[in-house]
Amino acid sequence: MRADDGMPFAVRVLTIFPEMFPGPVGRSLAGRALEDGLWSLETVDIRDFARDKHRSVDDTPFGGGAGMVMRPDVIGDALAAVSDAGAPLIYLSPRGRLLDQARVRALASGPGMSLLCGRFEGVDERVLEAHEIEEVSLGDFVLSGGEPAAIALIDACVRLLPGVVGQADSLAEESFADGLLEYPHYTRPREWRGRRVPDVLLSGHHERVREWRLAEAERSTRERRPDLWRRYRRKTEGDNDERD
Ligand code: SAH
Repeated sequence: MRADDGMPFAVRVLTIFPEMFPGPVGRSLAGRALEDGLWSLETVDIRDFARDKHRSVDDTPFGGGAGMVMRPDVIGDALAAVSDAGAPLIYLSPRGRLLDQARVRALASGPGMSLLCGRFEGVDERVLEAHEIEEVSLGDFVLSGGEPAAIALIDACVRLLPGVVGQADSLAEESFADGLLEYPHYTRPREWRGRRVPDVLLSGHHERVREWRLAEAERSTRERRPDLWRRYRRKTEGDNDERD
């Protein structure tokens, strides 16, 4: 949990498409939290730092090849405008470290974050080096720009801020909270197209429900995500060793 210093979680986004924000995070839980001042959003239009009357931010790549590259001088000046924020500086990039819930949790417990959204082929390498920017990837696929990735990252962080999601329980049990995928959910009606809700969930027997959910979470993690399963097994075996 973040230190409750009364300051909102401050998000700054550097983009050539400021009108894309807040977009989806302006609605629902995140949108309400934004209105309530639990987090703040500032967009920085990278084009404001362009040097010519066409407001261009990109140029052709040295060494040739397709596409355009975002210029280090323009991006560097835009970054300087947010460098006082005292928050992690992140470039959304397919070359980055894969985002996971542990990183989201760490970010959400801090003061905020500044997010650089790339376009075209991406950003000149030197500006990434000079600012020691953390690169974060959403997954092994290529988006046409960093904006949808920034929105996903903002959403993942904001829902963890105290007071955003009504029931803290629903955060404690969800996927990745304990290294497992979540168990399956069911609601009314009890029977739908011949498919019945598992009896144990109707039993009112809380301990058996808990055991069933854990077994299901373990089963789906083992079947769907061998990588997570191996890590979980190592951790639970480690815990047992400590107890021995
Ligand atoms: N030429 C690059 C892709 C550039 S895509 C390459 O092959 O690696 C343009 C921009 O979209 C990137 O600068 C980045 O900000 C964003 N982007 C694309 N895929 C992403 C991903 N998987 N995660 C986060 N950001 C991504």
